[in-house]
Amino acid sequence: MKSDGSCVCDQCPGEDEHVQNEVHALLICQDHRVCELRKHFFFLFTPFFEDFSAAQPFLLQQVNNQLVHDFLSQQNTRLFLFLSELMDLFVAGRDQSAADQPNNLAEGHPPL
Ligand SMILES: [Zn+2]
Repeated sequence: MKSDGSCVCDQCPGEDEHVQNEVHALLICQDHRVCELRKHFFFLFTPFFEDFSAAQPFLLQQVNNQLVHDFLSQQNTRLFLFLSELMDLFVAGRDQSAADQPNNLAEGHPPL
């Protein structure tokens, strides 16, 4: 389902087809690595998203653009760390496809 050039997220587990866009990657994607990353940066989300919790580190529905804008505009240098690591996850998922997944996320991932 990923060779037809569509934007369906290829990181999400399960059969639901999620459109992969910025908001999806930031808040909705349920890929376990993305969820772990969000839990790591938990404090960035909780002021903005009431539904967000350690047990459910993703949102179940789209949020309004203003809230996303506010989230991305918060004055916290950790936000850039989060965004950088998030991009790494998605870029790595894209380039490697199913061939050989890098293991550097499980080991040797630099502590923050
Ligand atoms: Zn996803």
